[in-house]
Amino acid sequence: MKPETIALRSTHFKDSNAAAVVSPLYFSTTFERDQNYELPHGYLYARAGNPNRQQLETALTALEGGAVAMAFASGQAATMTLFQCLKPGDHVIVPDDAYYGTPSLLQDFFVSWGLTFSKVDTTSLEVIEAAIRPETKLIWLETPSNPMLKVCDVAAIAALTREHNIVSACDNTWATPLLQRPLDLGCDVVMHSTTKYLSGHSDVLSGALIFKENNELAARARQIQTLGGAVPSPFDCWMVARGIKTLAVRVRQQSANAQQLAEFLEKHGSVECVHYPGLASHPGYEIAQQQMAHAGGMLSVQIKGDGPNALRFLNRLQLFTKATSLGGVESLIEHRASVEGLDTLTPTNLLRISVGLEHIDDLIDDMAQALA
Ligand SMILES: *Cc1c(COP(=O)(O)O)cnc(C)c1O
Repeated sequence: MKPETIALRSTHFKDSNAAAVVSPLYFSTTFERDQNYELPHGYLYARAGNPNRQQLETALTALEGGAVAMAFASGQAATMTLFQCLKPGDHVIVPDDAYYGTPSLLQDFFVSWGLTFSKVDTTSLEVIEAAIRPETKLIWLETPSNPMLKVCDVAAIAALTREHNIVSACDNTWATPLLQRPLDLGCDVVMHSTTKYLSGHSDVLSGALIFKENNELAARARQIQTLGGAVPSPFDCWMVARGIKTLAVRVRQQSANAQQLAEFLEKHGSVECVHYPGLASHPGYEIAQQQMAHAGGMLSVQIKGDGPNALRFLNRLQLFTKATSLGGVESLIEHRASVEGLDTLTPTNLLRISVGLEHIDDLIDDMAQALA
């Protein structure tokens, strides 16, 4: 089945009470036993599972082509769970450009727990290979990366790390399974902040892990999910499942808009450079062409001049909301250096854009007036 069909069909379950076309929402935290003291539908208590979460996990499994999925209360809770599957003394490789919360979790939490980690340039296989130690157990990938839109070769890295018995995990939040399927490329685990494109409307915080195989690692993650309890509410699950239904049309249009916007900005005299893997000038263009269906709805732009000048440009925009986050239907723009704090490596003239579903002509006109 094609992803559009999977997205529609996997997010629905049959309602035996009223034959409702849209899946009902089950708020109950507890489930009744039958005459034999069995659980007729397998549900015991909402932390361990409920129909809405199971439906979402089934949909995520199908979309990413995995064997099993777990939904969490946030993307960070999903990432944290995978790190918690490791043991003190284990070493993790993470990209030097990634969602800032990922290395922060390691630095501020898991180092005191006994994990070690190296930040490396994952666009180079040689650099990755040199960072591998006997105790390396996990490599974390994020492509395109945040906020520099670096692209790494997922298939080549997964093949290399498999030789060393290292689990490969890919944060697929930006690409979504519509554009890129890391498990098909050889990865063991996919992570999502479903807060972003999968829910798609900037109104639900949630995350997920999807495993290629239902193995020991997946069982450990399931145990942490149900015992630790960082789970999404039934309503959160219902909202994400609803968002997934329109994922394909949203992401395709957002990618088309981002491509046009990137091409416009690249040619503009006030722009220093554009980071977008759909541009032939991008260092990851060739790999992106191979592993992504489209280059996605995210781009970063560096405006000629200093940080304050970039902020003045930001304030002249009318159609881009100045806010963090991404993947919603509305266009957002963000000055990452301000958000990331003093030790950030992000250039101060860089603005990250999540391109929405407004008409591209209006978005380009707005950029043109603000750059003029
Ligand atoms: C937002 C985001 C996260 C964190 O997810 P939350 O849902 O905010 O916890 C992780 N990775 C990427 C790429 C993100 O954009």
